[in-house]
Amino acid sequence: MEQIKAAIRTIPDFPTPGIQFKDITPLLADGKLFGQTIEAFKERHTGKGIDVVVGIEARGFIFASALAYALGVGTCLVRKPGKLPHTVHRQTYELEYGTDAVEIHADAFRPGQKILVLDDVLATGGTVAATVALIQNHFEVEIAEIDFLMELTFLNGRNKLPNLPIHALIQY
Ligand code: AMP
Repeated sequence: MEQIKAAIRTIPDFPTPGIQFKDITPLLADGKLFGQTIEAFKERHTGKGIDVVVGIEARGFIFASALAYALGVGTCLVRKPGKLPHTVHRQTYELEYGTDAVEIHADAFRPGQKILVLDDVLATGGTVAATVALIQNHFEVEIAEIDFLMELTFLNGRNKLPNLPIHALIQY
């Protein structure tokens, strides 16, 4: 895990002053480390009956699709508004200034399916909290766990999330 952590680059003041942006592109560019990252998630979830891995736009897609392939299950896209072509459900959430929203296709899951939600970074938790609400409000499925490549613990994003298992491979 130390090698994976070392491949994540911190860019100060991006995209705005004061943000320490965690850049995963060096990790993605290293086939061995990217593979080890997916294997770590795979080991955690093999044999647990996961049916669908949900990825949150945009970097969540990268990990969710690779993990879904590794587990031999499907993946599902949670996207920013206006990107999904079929009938959608939408969940809005508060930002520091204004609101944002996430959407999912209305036929994303079948009742009773077991879902894993995956994103790259747990920061304030707003996006993933909205994603969980989106899923729980519209589908009769079980969210088995919410996973992240990394958690920025000082932002206390976990406090925004409902009482579900949460796991991050790396913590800052
Ligand atoms: P949040 O809703 O605050 O938990 O963050 C939403 C998304 O923004 C995360 O899934 C990340 O993709 C991205 N993000 C937030 N903070 C950072 C950061 N410091 N470095 C890189 N990505 C970030």
